[in-house]
Amino acid sequence: MSDLFLAAGAPSLQCCDRCGASWPELSTAAECADCGGLLLVTHARPVATGDALKIALASSAEASGVWRHRALVMPGADQVVSWPEGNTPLVDRARVSEYAGVAQLQLKHEGMNPTGSFKDRGMTVAVTHAVRAGARAVACASTGNTAASLAAYAAQAGIPALVFVPKGNISAGKLAQAMAYGATTLMVNGDFDACLALARSASAELGVYLANSLNPWRLEGQKTIVWELLAQLDWNTPDWIALPAGALGNTSAFGKALREALALGLINRLPRLLVVQAEGAAPFARAFDADFAKRVTVRAETVATAIRIGDPASWDRAVRAIRETNGVVTSVTDAEILDAKAVIDASGVGCEPASAASVAGVRSMVARGLIAASEQVVCVLTGHVLKDPDAVNSYHADGATRANPPLEIEPRLSDVERILGRR
Ligand SMILES: *Cc1c(COP(=O)(O)O)cnc(C)c1O
Ligand SMILES: [Zn+2]
Repeated sequence: MSDLFLAAGAPSLQCCDRCGASWPELSTAAECADCGGLLLVTHARPVATGDALKIALASSAEASGVWRHRALVMPGADQVVSWPEGNTPLVDRARVSEYAGVAQLQLKHEGMNPTGSFKDRGMTVAVTHAVRAGARAVACASTGNTAASLAAYAAQAGIPALVFVPKGNISAGKLAQAMAYGATTLMVNGDFDACLALARSASAELGVYLANSLNPWRLEGQKTIVWELLAQLDWNTPDWIALPAGALGNTSAFGKALREALALGLINRLPRLLVVQAEGAAPFARAFDADFAKRVTVRAETVATAIRIGDPASWDRAVRAIRETNGVVTSVTDAEILDAKAVIDASGVGCEPASAASVAGVRSMVARGLIAASEQVVCVLTGHVLKDPDAVNSYHADGATRANPPLEIEPRLSDVERILGRR
């Protein structure tokens, strides 16, 4: 397919986002060997752009929503490690848009990916890259979803996976997946930031392929979340795209996707990014308030474990994404996250706690008059409701505003009648 609309033969490069040095496509270094900066992938410009490119993308026979965009993601890949993933629904739910306070709100449900989070979009590309580069093992630090996804794709590729997770701060569903898919699971006595430092040195010293979101190929796969939702909107740009943020990999991927979509003539104006952090893990929101004058780190604490990150790796790339899209970074409390989650869950859609930060962030922006009720918003739900059953159980056991606890009865019809009458 790629031949249809790709410039002949030019290989993709990995370019340093800081000093501009370029490295071969199959280099596996996690950072620039000259300056330590993070890398970004550059592809040859496709022959087809604009409407011709839209048609080529729409008519692809690929089963994967990521590999449908192969020429713009990893054109050099012949054999891919794919589930397949992507092609997630974009849905409207009146209760959720009413709750957020905007007339037009759509939910892009990335929890509908094979392992239950958007991480699969990045991982199919990173593991394909690892295989092409001849890696003997793959590794990641993770609050859970990256571990689950890497474990599944490494199993499919037949290479060992090593995952570093913070002891006591990984949800039951995610830990279960990492073990079930066969990864060697290392429970680290430390937080996510400690896990990442360890994974980075294991990669540098022991030659293990690092699959964290600082890996530039992860971003290439995650770009397709944005392109897919834009295509679902017939390439009409919404006013805002809202997403939760932890390590800022997805924020960076969204910025790159939008920059490229504009340059390729797929859209003619940019949406604004609304990046939402949890109040107890909001270094990027704090820095935004000070116009990114300096990099901030915090000791992270939040119920939304997927975004419980105090020292986000993709900082510079994410600053660029915010600046280029006239974006906003905000934070919401755990109570706001859980309340929004209860509304999303009860609408029949469901998501894990971190995902609900997107809707909670929109609601807070509307309340503060920073998003108008007439604006169109797409909220990205990053993970599935079953990822964190403990969060659901404790919310509903807790007498919270929207609690819906189970009711205990005797095995007799009169008890059922009594409860039906009560409703
Ligand atoms: C990874 C993840 C995030 C955060 O994405 P970053 O790229 O780390 O900013 C948000 N929600 C869920 C469910 C995740 O798994
Ligand atoms: Zn460099």
